[in-house]
Amino acid sequence: GLAERLQGTLNRIRGKGKVSEVDVKEMMREVRLALLEADVNFKVVKEFISKVKERAVGQEVLQSLTPGQQIIKVVNEELTALMGGEQSKIAVASKPPTVVMMVGLQGAGKTTTTGKLANHLRKKHNRKPLMVAADIYRPAAIKQLETLGKQLDMPVFSMGDKVSPVEIAKNALEKAKEDHHDYVLIDTAGRLHVDEELMGELDQIKELTSPDEILLVVDAMTGQDAVNVAESFNDRLGITGVVLTKLDGDTRGGAALSVKAVTDTPIKFAGMGEKVDALEPFHPERMASRILGMGDVLTLIEKAQANVDEQKAKELERKMRTADITFDDFLEQLNQVKSMGPLDELLSMMPGAGKMKGLKNVQVDDKQLGHIEAIVQSMTKAEKQDPSLLNASRRRRIAKGSGTSIQEVNRLIKQFGEMKKMMKQMAGMQKGKGKKKGGF
Ligand code: GDP
Ligand code: MG
Repeated sequence: GLAERLQGTLNRIRGKGKVSEVDVKEMMREVRLALLEADVNFKVVKEFISKVKERAVGQEVLQSLTPGQQIIKVVNEELTALMGGEQSKIAVASKPPTVVMMVGLQGAGKTTTTGKLANHLRKKHNRKPLMVAADIYRPAAIKQLETLGKQLDMPVFSMGDKVSPVEIAKNALEKAKEDHHDYVLIDTAGRLHVDEELMGELDQIKELTSPDEILLVVDAMTGQDAVNVAESFNDRLGITGVVLTKLDGDTRGGAALSVKAVTDTPIKFAGMGEKVDALEPFHPERMASRILGMGDVLTLIEKAQANVDEQKAKELERKMRTADITFDDFLEQLNQVKSMGPLDELLSMMPGAGKMKGLKNVQVDDKQLGHIEAIVQSMTKAEKQDPSLLNASRRRRIAKGSGTSIQEVNRLIKQFGEMKKMMKQMAGMQKGKGKKKGGF
C-alpha cells in the first residue's frame, strides 16, 4: 500500500545526515510511483511532486542538520495541504434548522452515514437532528433509516414510498420547524451510476430546501472512481463537502488524496466502520501522518478519552508526546485498547504499530494480556521506568517470576522499545513544526 511504499523510501533517508539532489530526485520518483499505485489522480500527483521537489531541494532541507527528517516533514505537510490543510467543519445555518442533503451513488453509505451523523451531532454538538427518509426507490431504504432511528432513539421523518422525495423534503422541513429541530438530514436515493434522472430529482430537492450543506458520500474503496463521481456530482449539483466511507477497509488512499484537489471541496467526515459511532471528523493532518505510518495519536487519544477519564488520557497524551512512557503505561494502554474495541483499527493508530510486527495482526486476548501483565508486574519499579536496566539476568528473573518465557519477555521489551523510538521521532518532528495547533 501507499503507507508501506512511502515508509520504505522515507526510512532509507530518515537517518541520513546529508541528502543530495540526486537523493531527492530518487526519492521523489519513488513517492510518485507510490502515489500512482495508490490510485491518486495523475494530475494531482504531478503537481504534488513538483511542490515537494521545489521545497526539498531548497534551503529549508539541504542546509538542515537532519535533511531526511526535513523531507519527511515536507512530504507530510504537502500531503496535509493536498487534503485541504485544516479540518473543515459541518455547516451551521444562522437561522435553524441547518439543512443537510446526503447524496451519492447506491451503496456508498448515505443511509448509514445519515444515522452516524445524527448521532455525532447529538453527542458532540448537543444538537437535535431530524432524519428524513427520502429514498423511495431502494427497497427497504425507509425501513433501514427507521431502524437506525430506533437504535439511536432519534426521530425519522417518512411518508412511505408513494410520495415524491421533493414532497417528503418539503413536509420534513415544516415538521422540523414545528418540533424545533436544529438539523435536518435528508437521506436521498442513489443510483448505480450518475444519471440525469437522479440529478434532476436532487436538483429539485435542492431548489426547494436550499440546503446549507450538500454532503457527497463516496466509498473510499473505489479509489479513482470515487473521485470521478465527486467531480460529476459537483459539476451538476454543486457539493459543499465529502464524506469518505469505508476508510476502515483496505483502501489504497487514492480517494482521500485526490478528492479535495480535483473538486476543491473538503472532506468533512470519514466513515470508519458499520456501527453508528464509526464516524470521525476528517483531519487532513492526521490522515497524512497515518498514510506516512506515523500513527494517529490524537484520534487514539480521543477514543481513549471517550472510554477512560480525561485526566488519564491527558497524561497519556503528554507521555506519548514526550516519549516519556513506562511499562505501566504500556500495560494500561493495552488494557484500554482492549476495552475500546476493534483492535486492529486501534493498533494501526498507534505510533509505530505498523512496524511492530509482534503486535500487528495479533489478537491481544485475555490470556496474552495476562502474560504481559504478569511480566510487567514482575519488574521492579526502577525497571519499569528504565528498560535499559533489563540485562539478561534480570530478564531471566522476570520470566521466572511471571511464569512466562525469556522469549516472551524479550519480545515485550523490544515492542516497548520500538514504540518509544517512534514516539521520539514523532516528538522530534512535532518540534520541527513549531507551534502549530493539533499535531498528529
Ligand atoms: P446507501 O445506498 O448509500 O444508502 O448505502 P448504505 O448506507 O445502505 O451502506 C451500504 C453498505 O456499506 C452497508 O452495508 C453499510 O453497512 C456499509 N458501510 C457504510 N459506511 C461504512 C463504513 O464507513 N465502513 C464500512 N466498513 N462499511 C460501511
Ligand atoms: Mg440508502
